[in-house]
Amino acid sequence: MPSVRRDLAVFGGYHSPQIDVEVRLNTNESPVNPSPEFIFDLQGAIADLSLNRYPDRTADRLRNALAEFHQVDSDEIFIANGSNEVISTLLLAYGGPGRKAMTFEPTYAMYSQVAKVTSTELVEVERNTDFQLEMAAVLEANSKHRPDIVFFCSPNNPTGLDEDPKIISKLAQDTNPMIVIDEAYGQFASFRALELATAHSNIVVSKTFSKVWSLAGLRLGYLIGPKEIISNLWAACLPYHLDAIKQAAGVLALSRLNDMQLTLDLILAGRDQIEAGFDSLDVFYWKSSANFILFRAPSGKGDELWKKLVDRSVLVRNCSGWPRLADCLRVTVGTGIENDRFLYALSEALVELRS
Ligand SMILES: *Cc1c(COP(=O)(O)O)cnc(C)c1O
Repeated sequence: MPSVRRDLAVFGGYHSPQIDVEVRLNTNESPVNPSPEFIFDLQGAIADLSLNRYPDRTADRLRNALAEFHQVDSDEIFIANGSNEVISTLLLAYGGPGRKAMTFEPTYAMYSQVAKVTSTELVEVERNTDFQLEMAAVLEANSKHRPDIVFFCSPNNPTGLDEDPKIISKLAQDTNPMIVIDEAYGQFASFRALELATAHSNIVVSKTFSKVWSLAGLRLGYLIGPKEIISNLWAACLPYHLDAIKQAAGVLALSRLNDMQLTLDLILAGRDQIEAGFDSLDVFYWKSSANFILFRAPSGKGDELWKKLVDRSVLVRNCSGWPRLADCLRVTVGTGIENDRFLYALSEALVELRS
């Protein structure tokens, strides 16, 4: 047996710990299932498929539906099994040995994970102490490191903060790395990355059905960008990587925009509910543009607070051991009832911790 590649030997991969609890608010999914009407239509669509045949390799119907939805050309869209696979395909095609990617930390851990697996050199640049980008620091890091690919995440996971479009625009205008804007939570945010991509030929935008579309279990994400880049991604991915059921489900989801809108409204109301709860419990948090909120436990008590919530059958993401995020936990917005359970558990836990 060969041993694993040497550069991967001491590498744990990406995990989000799962525990069996009643209220699961740790991985930023939608709190509600797709509508019964969607499931009914999907069953009908599956019955019409020829599953003995390979699927449409370039997912034309789904690509056309996405193109119409975003008002772009269908050859400006690459589709993959979740936006994580979009990132992976990007680095397979544009990263690798001799190539350099740059991230602004803290941010989504998948960029560094995929850089590692593809042997892409990674430069991690610090955000300021408020977790914001600063124009001068971004431009300086870019001219110092000359990355091939720069990752922005807007709104940023795990902080929930929007990136500053002026900074991304300036970087795109003055220099020539490929700029990736991961907009997994775009629907919850105030600015639309696609407007930047339309204005600059070196910006690509990745999006997903895993959050507000309530389809994390389906694994469907896509990238919008210039067609030269997109055709290289179709060349780098495996043949028939998108199964026929997924393609049909994506088309159906796009035909039921109202479902998505209702979920969005539910989550935005839930976000207000949790932020109001934090205010009344005097908990420090970062005002969120996403479907999750980063908040801070009493000093040095991050692990303890997380455990006290688990004791009350509420699971949030414990970020308190991550670099730069001492004492921080991240809660996903749930249903109204789940948010109440979380806030009640939090209030009890804080009484114990503060006494
Ligand atoms: C959840 C998330 C995704 C979604 O990944 P999928 O593979 O599409 O499920 C992408 N980017 C960020 C920043 C996320 O938080």
